[in-house]
Amino acid sequence: MNIRLLLLLCIMLALALGVYFCISYKSTCSALRRVPTENGLVEIVSPDCFQGLPHTADGNTIRMTESVWNSGRRDEILVHERVHLDQKQNPGAWAAFYKEAWDYELTSTPPPGLRSALRLNPDTAESPYAVWRSRYVFFVEDHPDLRTAPVRVWDADQGALCAPPPEWNAFFCDTRGCPHQWEHPHELSAEYLTLGSAAPAAQVLKKWRNSLRT
Ligand SMILES: [Zn+2]
Repeated sequence: MNIRLLLLLCIMLALALGVYFCISYKSTCSALRRVPTENGLVEIVSPDCFQGLPHTADGNTIRMTESVWNSGRRDEILVHERVHLDQKQNPGAWAAFYKEAWDYELTSTPPPGLRSALRLNPDTAESPYAVWRSRYVFFVEDHPDLRTAPVRVWDADQGALCAPPPEWNAFFCDTRGCPHQWEHPHELSAEYLTLGSAAPAAQVLKKWRNSLRT
């Protein structure tokens, strides 16, 4: 077969696949109904949309399934997702807080040498890699089940995966344990502000949020 024809076929196949995935993503996450609230628009979506996990679509839109909306977890999830709305509305303020108070920097560039595929989370999609103390890169590895996708820490100095450093645990965990969603500062802060924590990181976050209100 002529090499140009083969190339053309490959390009057409790639385009067709792109269109297919765009259409299927749109249909699985399209709003079944919309509920305006005093802080953000809630879109009720199908359980196929990001495997039914609540998330934010943009700086003013929260998505969740009908069963989550009707569950006893609704208010807690709204508090959590509204923190993500604020992060999307004020990315510069959050980035400055992470840098100054938590020593984190966010980036969309994977560190050289890291081969693991990333699990896409709409709430951290802008900058999914979180670099702590300019060395430890936190991210979520891709996994068929989004709920159990493993959090990984990459030591950029050693060029290898590692456990969270003890200094990180001392700052971000309390006597009850470490946050469930510890992969990214956006998730750490949403969890702290929703569930509370005695961790030093949670205390400085609370202080910063209170200072914005006065
Ligand atoms: Zn979240």
